[in-house]
Amino acid sequence: MRRALATIDRAALAHNLARVRALAPGRRVYAAVKADGYGHGAATVAHALADADGFAVSSLDEALQLRWAGIDRPVLMLSQMLDATVCAQAAEQGFEIVLFHDAQLDALAAYRGPPVTVWIKLDSGMHRLGFACERAGEIAARVDTCPQASHGGWLTHLACADDARSPLTRRQLAAFEAAIVGRAGQRSIANSAGVLDWPESHADTVRPGIMLYGSSPLLARSAADCDLRPAMTLSAPLIARQTVAAGEPIGYGAISRTPESMPVGVIGIGYGDGYPRHAPPGTPVLLDGVRVPLIGRVSMDMITVDLRAAPAARVGDRATLWGEDLPADEIAAAAGTIAYELFCRLTPRVAFEIV
Ligand SMILES: *Cc1c(COP(=O)(O)O)cnc(C)c1O
Repeated sequence: MRRALATIDRAALAHNLARVRALAPGRRVYAAVKADGYGHGAATVAHALADADGFAVSSLDEALQLRWAGIDRPVLMLSQMLDATVCAQAAEQGFEIVLFHDAQLDALAAYRGPPVTVWIKLDSGMHRLGFACERAGEIAARVDTCPQASHGGWLTHLACADDARSPLTRRQLAAFEAAIVGRAGQRSIANSAGVLDWPESHADTVRPGIMLYGSSPLLARSAADCDLRPAMTLSAPLIARQTVAAGEPIGYGAISRTPESMPVGVIGIGYGDGYPRHAPPGTPVLLDGVRVPLIGRVSMDMITVDLRAAPAARVGDRATLWGEDLPADEIAAAAGTIAYELFCRLTPRVAFEIV
């Protein structure tokens, strides 16, 4: 009997990529697989999404892992600092470099190896990474003077695309467009929220991440509303059950008490596996096809659930913590976080199964 198990559904990943293609027809898709494919396994995800036009990762290390896994598509490194070695490896491996800082331009100007493809990232209003929009012409001219750099395109990132009412997205789109109007090169703007809700952000290349994993980035629409399917189902077995008398405390800190004499189940997963410790009592777990609420605190190896809705549940039955029929977005909201973090925080103790 497996303990905590993440089941990765390749058909769901492929379905979600097809959703991206349907929403942004004719655009190139660079699938974001940073942070080990949002915790799903970068190689697994990249193979399941082999139709993507390219992949986006954070660093050179993540890009190399894709090559070692046999992925031969372009790989865009979103936040990798540059030196001569990085430039040489990027050139050799066909990695595309995102330029966002002057220090990178200095490294690029000094680089003398085989040619590399670079994208210029502009800060259109998020104020995290990128050159100020006013500098677009200057930066492009500097790239042109770098003997070994070929300018692939222009990129920016949206801060509030999850909120259909935020005026910032419109301001960002206008600032980006104004900065590069008439300039050569591909354009890339959209993350998942852009793909789903902002057709005007689709440009030439979209960079979806979270929607490929079947989670919704939007404030107003669920993953099911967007016709996305969960790529990960996290499950764990019921390892014990007992009947607890009315008014008794459950677990560390005795934060919950039984409202009546009732069955309480123990499931073999906890924050040591990446289940969020901040999930409060009441957070749903799926057992025997019904939702049973957490009772008491999440511990390192275990959680306790109120079994009144699933009185026939038996030791050995598998519970779903999130995934099929229990959206990760819902668990994330209960725990005060986002599904991105739930996925990325699974620990090495969780076994993976690919179906
Ligand atoms: C992670 C990332 C994405 C993908 O974002 P999602 O919200 O997961 O779709 C796109 N672009 C950049 C620059 C990113 O860092």
